[in-house]
Amino acid sequence: AAKRAGGNRIQVYSDELRVPVQQKIAAESRLRVALAGDMRDTLPVWFQPVVDTATGKIAGAEALVRMRTPGGEILSPFHFVGAAEETGLIVPLGEHVLRTAVEHLLQWSDRLGYVSVNVSPRQLAEPDFVPMVASVLAGLPGFDPSRLVLEITETALLSSAVDVGERLNALKELGVRIALDDFGTGYSSLTWLKSLPADIVKLDRSFVAGLAEDARKASIIEGVLWLARSLGMSTIAEGVEEKADWEALRAAGCPAVQGYFFSRPLPAPEFETLLLNSLERSTFEGVHLDETM
Ligand code: C2E
Ligand code: MG
Ligand code: MG
Ligand code: MG
Repeated sequence: AAKRAGGNRIQVYSDELRVPVQQKIAAESRLRVALAGDMRDTLPVWFQPVVDTATGKIAGAEALVRMRTPGGEILSPFHFVGAAEETGLIVPLGEHVLRTAVEHLLQWSDRLGYVSVNVSPRQLAEPDFVPMVASVLAGLPGFDPSRLVLEITETALLSSAVDVGERLNALKELGVRIALDDFGTGYSSLTWLKSLPADIVKLDRSFVAGLAEDARKASIIEGVLWLARSLGMSTIAEGVEEKADWEALRAAGCPAVQGYFFSRPLPAPEFETLLLNSLERSTFEGVHLDETM
């Protein structure tokens, strides 16, 4: 089976699916090869726009890592992020993604407000994580740290080894913003909201897809939007694939959206083209950006 993403082919090896242990070993060794290579080539960072609902403009971008194999195939994180977390290789991988994402943000500063980087529970638990982020920021005098958003998933709460709230507070003291990723899919979504110093709720796409035809989803979204607003947080709806869903989100007052309707994640040069084009057009309204790809 193979699916399309960003115009590149993502290969799923059926042999590996039959042999999970071998798949893990293969994933780990591929990862070690990639980390030992020129990571700009072997672990490229792609970008997906986050669109401001009111203006239709690109407000920010989520950085999403890919792997390019020696054979030239592009692999989605599904094939290696799990192995990276299990082996601890997520630590150097995550630092690479963070540095690359911020580098690109600086290149695109006049056109892009912020960049958002995924942080896995394993990374957050690392004693060196906060100092690493601090050192990246220290290397960028004059950089407004709120232009860096770190996305945390609910599973991070389950890691009992560290006090997640304390760690997020330390990150907040650096001035970076925190987003709760895949919001609504875990066990403790309300606990998150109650106790964690987050700035943004990323509403999981399972609540978003087909919302225009599903009154229950629409009610949940309205409730989350109200809750987030009351707590002084912003909301991004993930996985917007249909125009009708975007229109419903806009009508409900959702401040920002992200999804294939606007663009798939793109390699940096293509994302840059998108940035330039969207400025020229000055709006995304009614434009299916993917149709040119
Ligand atoms: P995520 O952080 O929730 O990222 C959103 C995922 O949804 C991305 O998949 C994105 O391509 C996909 N997506 C965006 N819009 C749509 C849409 O309209 N429809 C559908 N069906 N999907 C959409 P991707 O890039 O394959 O990444 C999957 C997951 O891998 C991410 O989920 C994140 O948890 C993880 N990941 C990606 N990059 C990194 C990274 O650098 N570090 C860590 N720790 N995890 C990463
Ligand atoms: Mg994310
Ligand atoms: Mg997400
Ligand atoms: Mg997700």
